[in-house]
Amino acid sequence: MTTRIPLMAGNWKMNLNHLEAIAHTQKLAFALEDKDFAAVEVAVLPPFTDLRSVQTLVDGDKLKIKFGAQDISAHDLGAYTGEVSGAMLAKLGCAYAVVGHSERRQYHGEDDELCNTKVKAALRHGLTPILCIGEGLDTRRAGDHVPYTLAQLDGALHDVGAEQAAGLVIAYEPVWAIGTGEVATPEDAQEVCSAIRGRLAEVYGRETADQVRIQYGGSVKASNVAAIMAQPDVDGALVGGASLDADEFVRIVRFRD
Ligand code: PEP
Repeated sequence: MTTRIPLMAGNWKMNLNHLEAIAHTQKLAFALEDKDFAAVEVAVLPPFTDLRSVQTLVDGDKLKIKFGAQDISAHDLGAYTGEVSGAMLAKLGCAYAVVGHSERRQYHGEDDELCNTKVKAALRHGLTPILCIGEGLDTRRAGDHVPYTLAQLDGALHDVGAEQAAGLVIAYEPVWAIGTGEVATPEDAQEVCSAIRGRLAEVYGRETADQVRIQYGGSVKASNVAAIMAQPDVDGALVGGASLDADEFVRIVRFRD
């Protein structure tokens, strides 16, 4: 049986300037000094403007805390004002790039086709995409959440090969649970995460599917993380609001302690 190391990742969204990022990261590094990073992986996903500051700190911490970007350009270079390429993120030492967060889909019109080009851009530059998928409230109420989420998965992974798929991180983030305080039940999370793994097995084979890490995201807190992490197909959490409180994020990371 494959052992998947849980990934607990903090999505800071558009919060914390570079000075606040330094203080926050220092606090995390200090509080997690004794953590067994081989058993739980910890990553922060700051705004672009904080990446250099975070890199400087975690470099000194021998990269135990990993970091990544909240978005990535579909392009590698050129006249794309405001965009940041995978090459630039890789050069800074990013391990991850979030692709298709629901806030990018909602406010910037990102669709599955664009997510597909961004997933491929990340992979081209040795970054692990954290691909976010998940249904809105109407879809959930209609009972269509599984086919909806799997269609997003299929679209974003079109033409991504099995050798690359094994290293992916998929974040199941029901939109109705993001930033609302309304967390999915552990059973809800398991239902969709297991369907995601099932689809990956159909496309890439069971062995590959068993290596993919599938996170749950949506109002994760220290008080609900353990029950969600106890589900067999949940391999980590993508944490938004609660990751801005260093003490709370540390409690989430220490869900097993
Ligand atoms: C997120 O931003 O990916 C997220 C899950 O946010 P929150 O934890 O605040 O719901």
